[in-house]
Amino acid sequence: MLFVLFAPLLLTDEPTGGKVPHGGADHHVHFRSDSSSDAWAALCEAMPGACGEGLPSRPAPTSVDDFMPLLDEAGLEKASVLSIAYFFGFPGLADTRFNDPALVRQENRFVSRQVALYPDRLVGFFSVNPLADYALDEVRYWAEEGSLAGLKLHMANSDVDLANPEHLEQLAAIFQVLDAHHLAAVVHLRNRNPEFGYQDATAFIDKVLAGAPNVSVQMAHMAGWGGYDENTDQAVQAFLDALADGRLQRAQVYFDLAAVVLPNATEEQIAALKGRLGEIGADRLLFGTDWDALQSPAETLDTYQASGILDQDAWEQVTANQAPWLR
Ligand SMILES: [Zn+2]
Repeated sequence: MLFVLFAPLLLTDEPTGGKVPHGGADHHVHFRSDSSSDAWAALCEAMPGACGEGLPSRPAPTSVDDFMPLLDEAGLEKASVLSIAYFFGFPGLADTRFNDPALVRQENRFVSRQVALYPDRLVGFFSVNPLADYALDEVRYWAEEGSLAGLKLHMANSDVDLANPEHLEQLAAIFQVLDAHHLAAVVHLRNRNPEFGYQDATAFIDKVLAGAPNVSVQMAHMAGWGGYDENTDQAVQAFLDALADGRLQRAQVYFDLAAVVLPNATEEQIAALKGRLGEIGADRLLFGTDWDALQSPAETLDTYQASGILDQDAWEQVTANQAPWLR
């Protein structure tokens, strides 16, 4: 069940060190505090199937000490560090000591302090389960505190139902706070709906994003959850339609490439992805890795370049792009 945390584990060859001369950025990075490692371990114990094969039962904590050498190795200048504080509100942890707003605050604080160590190279995003009763308080706190660029949401981990009007209202209220503070959002949109696709993305666009025109949004994993299948492609179609008919402004929307190219990708999936990337345009695409769950930036650059999802000109542009909140 890969919706639990990140995307499937990638197993690939040794890196050859994809150097990018332009600066560029990794727009999708996670650091893991001690307490979030403990929460993962508790979940793996309670729900063995939820942690995924090949994943450690207690992943090691990670920080700038582990990551900055990898960013340097890839020749990338900057990164967005996305808090995994939403994990404390995972429904599978509901009856544990980890379902605690103080731990959510502490995890977000951890990210804030980490990125403050490299103020010229890192920005951070806070996160929360948007359905938690403390969600709006947490969003308001960081919006006013001001050290972080915006909010990370994970609809699958938080079990958000994009067909539920109450869930959409709650998301809209959260985005109103972001909008008032001109904050950004990184959204893992794909939820647990087996039929996820055009309708879910359209509901999010029309009921949440349309009312928050000051919020720039980065659709994580190309609006999917790793890999590139028909459901994800339908969600992308919904965004392209909303951009075409003016419900969304082009300047407002980005797509990140984290985990979209997996080792088991079929030729058809790569071809579909390539076509969509061309339609979206290189200026709206952001490079990202999903480290520490997945490969390092240099390894990911190598994997993606070898996949041929972008021609050379577009590749150079995408790997040089930096989202506005990183500039
Ligand atoms: Zn991620």
